[in-house]
Amino acid sequence: MSSLVEQTAAELLRRLQASEVSATEVASAFLDRIASHDEKIGAFLSVWREQALERAADVDRRRAAGKPVGLLAGLPVAVKDVFCTRGELTTCASKMLEHFRPPYDATVVEKIEAADGIILGKTNMDEFAMGGSTENSAYRPTHNPWDNERVPGGSSGGAAAAVAAQMAPLSVGTDTGGSIRQPAAFCGTVGLKPTYGRVSRRGLVAFASSLDQAGPLARTAEDAALLLEVIAGHDPLDSTSANAPAARYSQTVSQPLEKLRIGIVREHLGAGLDAEIAAAVEEAIRVWKDLGAEIQEISLPHNEYAIATYYIIAPCEASSNLARYDGVHYGYRTDETKMLAQLAAERKAAEVNPARLEEIDTPLVRMYRQSRSEGFGAEVKRRVMLGAYALSAGYYDAYYLKALKVRRLIRQDFDQAFAKVDVIMGPTTPTPAYRLGEKVADPLASYLGDTYTVSANLAGICSLSTPCGFTQSGLPIGLQLQAPALEEDRLLRAAHMYQTATDWHLRRI
Ligand code: GLN
Repeated sequence: MSSLVEQTAAELLRRLQASEVSATEVASAFLDRIASHDEKIGAFLSVWREQALERAADVDRRRAAGKPVGLLAGLPVAVKDVFCTRGELTTCASKMLEHFRPPYDATVVEKIEAADGIILGKTNMDEFAMGGSTENSAYRPTHNPWDNERVPGGSSGGAAAAVAAQMAPLSVGTDTGGSIRQPAAFCGTVGLKPTYGRVSRRGLVAFASSLDQAGPLARTAEDAALLLEVIAGHDPLDSTSANAPAARYSQTVSQPLEKLRIGIVREHLGAGLDAEIAAAVEEAIRVWKDLGAEIQEISLPHNEYAIATYYIIAPCEASSNLARYDGVHYGYRTDETKMLAQLAAERKAAEVNPARLEEIDTPLVRMYRQSRSEGFGAEVKRRVMLGAYALSAGYYDAYYLKALKVRRLIRQDFDQAFAKVDVIMGPTTPTPAYRLGEKVADPLASYLGDTYTVSANLAGICSLSTPCGFTQSGLPIGLQLQAPALEEDRLLRAAHMYQTATDWHLRRI
């Protein structure tokens, strides 16, 4: 029998239900694994050891007494540090929220706890979810469990690394332009970005509100289905949440799809794609043919504008969402004693030239300016400036409005494609995990890594990444599957079908 931490959530659940193992034993096994491995990996920003063990003991007591238990009863879950957790640090990996303890739980957190999932702690991420490597964390980088010199992807890098390094069987992340799927691809896990609105955003610290969506990371499609079933559904407290019933994904995930029509976007298999990833996707096409699927070439003609569109819309929304962190309403405030002394010194120095006095900030303006300068990291500042610029008078029509129009065209491309095929398939990322530090000085290179993922967010459809191979040097490769809005059931069933014919998802570090 393999050790507890190697097992999938579904296997653990079967053993928990059969009382072969207790929730306390399961939680302890993963907490011990975190204790022995996370110093090297850096997946967690905080670990909830005591609470997790208490909750696990409570599930064990209730199960022993024959009382009803939830769908996740006793299964550990790691939660990205972007979800509000009542009374517990929620930093978004930013110095800005270094001491933030929210007064309420995000709906996703409430639902996991109501289903008796055991939250193990909060995972590392790029600051405010901006980035694709988790190097933008203000606290520490996360290392890829397959090769510690490489990035785990991002922004949900901690959530993906936690699953890949067997420190949690399940985790929840968020995806604004690829932040669940891309780290899943880099770390060899499954990652699902649900349809916009499928999972409540209440209590999710906002990055770009028209794109943000929460979703599961897991080892298998079956496990992702289980966690999605728990967190999905309408939330009256999130006005953008979809008022459509969520399915019993865990019940249907193993049903094969008959006569599946899969669309391949030829443009996605051309220039810019790593040769080993291209070969892995070609191999996946062959697997699907054997499974009886019909493969069709399709075109998404506006996809080439997706990156440009996303990197206008996301920063515009970010600059507006992040305005609240001013050191007064929310967030870090600069040391005022030092700041006032500095202002006094500046004023004194300017006395010889009274015209210069006019240029010196008022204390209030300086407090805002300095709090934001010190509280935000470089990438967040870059996004705020990009967004504020694109939204400013004179540029609004040329950038923001135009981006919204292109977004519509991107969405129409998907509508047309989904009239012909059930699922669209291709690579999740153009390259496998790169070295830590490799792209830090070149933000554009990092943005281009989002080439295949951002369009699903712009279109609001659902999309997942599942392992489909390894490079010669042993790095995981992700296969992206996309389905129309609210068709998570189809997406998960397709991924499960693929996993019955392949074993890439079963490889362990
Ligand atoms: N890498 C993308 C970005 O930096 C996506 C981030 C995300 O999905 N949160 O914006």
